[in-house]
Amino acid sequence: MNFADSEIVNSILIEDGMTATESAETADVILVNTCSIRENAETKVWNRLKEIRSLKKTNNDLTVGVLGCMAERIKDRIIEEEQLVDIVVGPDAYRDIPRLLAEVDDGRKAVNVLLSLEETYADIAPVRTTGNGVSSFVSIMRGCDNMCSFCVVPFTRGRERSRPMESILKEIQQLSDEGYKEVTLLGQNVNSYKDGENTFTALMDAASLINPEIRFRFSSPHPKDFPDDLLHLIAERPNLCNYIHIPAQAGSDSMLERMRRPYTREQYLDLITKMKRIIPGLSLSTDIIAGFCGETEEEHQQTMSLMKEVEYDLAYMFAYSERERTLAYRKFEDDVPEEVKKRRLTEIINQQMEIQKQRNVKEIGNRHLVLVEGTSKRSDEQMSGRSDTNKIVIFDRMDFEKGDYVEVEVTDSTSATLKAKPIRKTTLVEYYGMAVEA
Ligand code: SAH
Ligand code: SF4
Repeated sequence: MNFADSEIVNSILIEDGMTATESAETADVILVNTCSIRENAETKVWNRLKEIRSLKKTNNDLTVGVLGCMAERIKDRIIEEEQLVDIVVGPDAYRDIPRLLAEVDDGRKAVNVLLSLEETYADIAPVRTTGNGVSSFVSIMRGCDNMCSFCVVPFTRGRERSRPMESILKEIQQLSDEGYKEVTLLGQNVNSYKDGENTFTALMDAASLINPEIRFRFSSPHPKDFPDDLLHLIAERPNLCNYIHIPAQAGSDSMLERMRRPYTREQYLDLITKMKRIIPGLSLSTDIIAGFCGETEEEHQQTMSLMKEVEYDLAYMFAYSERERTLAYRKFEDDVPEEVKKRRLTEIINQQMEIQKQRNVKEIGNRHLVLVEGTSKRSDEQMSGRSDTNKIVIFDRMDFEKGDYVEVEVTDSTSATLKAKPIRKTTLVEYYGMAVEA
């Protein structure tokens, strides 16, 4: 989400006559886009700001700004105590950056952390200079109204609002014209996307018809209201990936209730069963929090058993990190000792790695359509890309290029990647043997 936001800010700055520099040392302005979701995300930002402070010492004219989720929470501390930062801009105030920079030029500090009920930056075409040129993110909504008890997002990013469908489709058309091959639609709960009569399923339907060679993913849906018609659409539309990220957070009813996640373990598992039935070969991933307030050993075991039952292909696993202003901060106690949190998280991660290893071994001999994202990090002689099911696949470079679709056969695997033998360069429509009729 921040990656996508930075591309919007990039566009606003370019419109204001600025250009990107090759290095921080030569910049007149450095803006740090921040995340507050967990303590360690904020720690990273503070460390980055301290690095930048040394640049400020050698360049008196350097303007430093903090953008995004940390803005509201630390605006006073940032400006008055630390002397690190000149401007502070919340996630709904990016259009104001040129004015704020002008205020700084006049020798003042400048702050805009107002949240909005309407801002979706719908008319701003993001400038994508840092991506791989093949896959991109498109923001379809902002904010969140769900108020899960552990989560700071509703406070930092404000109320939920959907971006008009027309502007989303226009952006995807533009990405198509620029040669992009993969789009991930982003929102905190994409299921609740709404533009007049248009639901998220209608949006996915229209988006996937723009170019049958562009593959689509989305993140994140909420288990409480995942629409059935979307499952059927994914099953029948070749360019909607057979991959769903569906955050569970925990595996016991008692914990889900404390987290204010309005579904039970059984409802979640029923949804997973339905997903797997409607979409054969579906790949699933999830988010899990270990050591939330009051977590008992039994509740932890239920999270472990849920993960074992579902057999996710990928999981993002976190130790609970208390955030100010959340319901958990106000009402519950962050009472699971740090070493217990760590131990439980390690157990969760180890089990997940074992599951992934076993699932990936079963892939040996299977064929996949891989979208090439670039050369492998480890070797220039190898290409790296992703299967429709979102698995990272490595294979010999030959004369394949970034953006090619390549049919491969899996020859080896680890818990994190598949190694494969390339069979042929192809297209998405050719591979699945059917075109989509608009
Ligand atoms: N809107 C998405 C999640 C966005 S935040 C959803 O509801 O699925 C991404 C993930 O960060 C969450 O799914 C959760 O697992 C994790 N997370 C959020 N707040 C957290 C906290 N206080 N401590 C640890 N992990 C947290
Ligand atoms: Fe946070 Fe819950 Fe909203 Fe996701 S749905 S952003 S976890 S409040």
